[in-house]
Amino acid sequence: MKKIRILPRQQLALATAIYWFLLLYIVAALAFWYLRLQQQNEQMANYKLLELVADDPSYLKKVAEINTAAERKAYQYRGEGATFLLLIFVCAVFVFRAVRSQFRTAMQQQNFMMAITHELKTPIAVAKLNLETLQKHKLEESRQQKLIRMTLQETNRLNDLTNNILISSQLEAGGYKKVFEETDLSQLCLTQLQLMQNRYPDHQFMPDIEAGVKAQVDELLIQILISNLLDNAVKYAPKNEPIVLELKQATGEAVIKVSDQGTGIPKEEKTRIFQRFYRIGNEAVRKTKGTGLGLYLCKKIADDHHGTITVTDNQPLGTIFTINLPLQNV
Ligand code: ADP
Repeated sequence: MKKIRILPRQQLALATAIYWFLLLYIVAALAFWYLRLQQQNEQMANYKLLELVADDPSYLKKVAEINTAAERKAYQYRGEGATFLLLIFVCAVFVFRAVRSQFRTAMQQQNFMMAITHELKTPIAVAKLNLETLQKHKLEESRQQKLIRMTLQETNRLNDLTNNILISSQLEAGGYKKVFEETDLSQLCLTQLQLMQNRYPDHQFMPDIEAGVKAQVDELLIQILISNLLDNAVKYAPKNEPIVLELKQATGEAVIKVSDQGTGIPKEEKTRIFQRFYRIGNEAVRKTKGTGLGLYLCKKIADDHHGTITVTDNQPLGTIFTINLPLQNV
């Protein structure tokens, strides 16, 4: 991954202050030179007028010529000044936007690195501890099963995480060969829901699935898409509220909806959440697990299927993710 130097907030504030100081200095210098040139222009015209001899028959004509020349120069200075000012503003806006987007990317990558370190270390540590306990102690059957279930959950999380990282980098680099095949989406949705129910027995998953909906899709990618959305519903909604997976066939497309009754997503965040590495809030104080790759990958998969993914509010609270997938993909 390309290494980007990360600017802490204070450095960014300093860079912004220097930027504004330089910009104001340049504009002030331009204004100063403009005034000086105008002054010089007027002085030159005055000198020329003083050199004229009053009883010269062409005196009036020469005065008019000098005044016209001075006026022309004044217009020229104004035109050049305005062009430079415009250029300075265009460049300033360009630099400002580039630096801001670089800073955002750097912050998101820093967040990602913090999240990924945590996300990789925790399941490994938990699985190691559970296996060591199983090896060292003779536990009763129910306790053994609990430890094995917890270890499996952690390894599943690791598996999902590595899948997300691998597939998104492969899709990004064009290294993943998509295979669009007629797939029974109804069956796929039911299987995903069952998998999630086994994985999270404390949560309540509800199917609302039309039978026999088939579409030409890459099965693995659609599995990843649905599993990421269900996983988010588990993460961001309380245990006792149902998570609904809906599948319906509409004209020429399949519509998949994942609804939860969780925290919901603020309006201003609704477009940002699909950006790579984007997570709402601050990584240092965040409690939920994640890397900010899930929804980015969902959007990429929907786009690659010539479909769409949108997010709306659930009623009375929570979130609905809707995916529209064309039934045919060539
Ligand atoms: P993460 O690994 O953080 O879950 P995602 O790309 O899957 O990354 O999601 C990006 C952000 O969108 C999350 O950090 C979370 O704040 C928000 N989000 C995603 N799904 C939901 C949801 N169902 N309810 C509330 N917030 C959500």
